[in-house]
Amino acid sequence: MTFPKLEIPEGVLDIAQKLEAAGFEAWCVGGNLRDALLQIPHSDYDIATSATPDQVQKLFPRTIEVGIKYGTVGVLDRSRVLHEVTTFRRDVATDGRHAVVAFGASLEEDLSRRDFTINALAYHPLRGEWKDPFNGAADIESHVVRAVGNPADRFREDYLRILRAIRFAARFDFSIDPATWEAARAAAAGLQQLSAERVRDEWFKSLRTARSITQLVLLWIHVGAASAWIRELEGVAGFDNAFSDPPVDGRDPVVLTTLLCRDPVAVLRRLKAANAEIARAAAMLKGPEEPRGLDERSVRRWLAVVGAAADDLALLWRLRHGGDPPWTAIAAEIRRRGDPLTRGDLAITGGDLQALGITGPRLGETLAALLERVLDDPSVNTPESLLTLARNLP
Ligand code: ATP
Ligand code: MG
Repeated sequence: MTFPKLEIPEGVLDIAQKLEAAGFEAWCVGGNLRDALLQIPHSDYDIATSATPDQVQKLFPRTIEVGIKYGTVGVLDRSRVLHEVTTFRRDVATDGRHAVVAFGASLEEDLSRRDFTINALAYHPLRGEWKDPFNGAADIESHVVRAVGNPADRFREDYLRILRAIRFAARFDFSIDPATWEAARAAAAGLQQLSAERVRDEWFKSLRTARSITQLVLLWIHVGAASAWIRELEGVAGFDNAFSDPPVDGRDPVVLTTLLCRDPVAVLRRLKAANAEIARAAAMLKGPEEPRGLDERSVRRWLAVVGAAADDLALLWRLRHGGDPPWTAIAAEIRRRGDPLTRGDLAITGGDLQALGITGPRLGETLAALLERVLDDPSVNTPESLLTLARNLP
């Protein structure tokens, strides 16, 4: 592999120059170098330095504490763009869940604690020099995810790396080196020790980025990650490709989890997803999945019943069947016109009804009946018509 000269953004260059002028080393590191070699779009390069977080904070006027404990300081460049500057680290203790890090390490030590060879390159932004002690560029070229050093040790240090290996393999359509894969399978029981939050972040990121969701799910099953965290996925294996793999933009991890798992609410709870995400899954389950018919009334009623879940259900339909759901145009037209769909959209309020002497349980019943009428025929949604209807309700 020939190592290209990279175009380094002004802000990164400025920061590197300042660090080096003060006698420190500054290197670009991390996944964005991998992405650059793969010639895929990526955000700015992370900077690794021999300066300690203190020294970084002293050197730059505008910094933000991003992860001081782990050695990361956010530095704002002249255009107020944030760059992550992280002190070279080595692990002093690992327990499979988190690492205790020490500063005062060399670049080589810092690279050697990284997970995969494809993520363990460094590039000197000023000299245009590459450091690739683990032949990551060759693995990028041959599309292989390979642990840095002894794979069994590396997974034991941090079991999340098992899920990360799969995420990168699925995202780039890389294979996983056999020794790395065997070690990952052998270490899978350790996945149970991870926090639900880290597993969830990895699962969500993987769903967002995988080329093929089917491939991702199969890897989770085969490595033993499904049985540790999302056994519901095991049902998916039998009907390989039973859904259409969605394009990477427009991926939604909550909808995808609902597509893949019979009980997405239980899965999302287990993964400590946000309450709003759990509620979205519950609303999709409740449905109904689709309008009873493709006439305006049916679609209006369906929109009224499913409320905020309408878009999620439409996406779910797309994933299951491919293409837009047949009610798409009708729903768009209903929304464009702003047809009333909720009690709040009615042209009268509860107060107006109370003024007519309608109170107590009768009030709610009346509002419900009026909404039914309006869903059937939006043109009756005027104060006069609704009040007349209210008076004449049986
Ligand atoms: P992404 O595009 O998903 O951000 P990335 O490679 O940048 O991919 P990050 O999670 O942002 O991944 O981490 C940045 C870098 O830090 C990685 O490239 C890798 O070198 C290192 N790294 C991150 N997490 C771990 C880990 N759990 N163990 C070892 N090294 C890690
Ligand atoms: Mg990153």
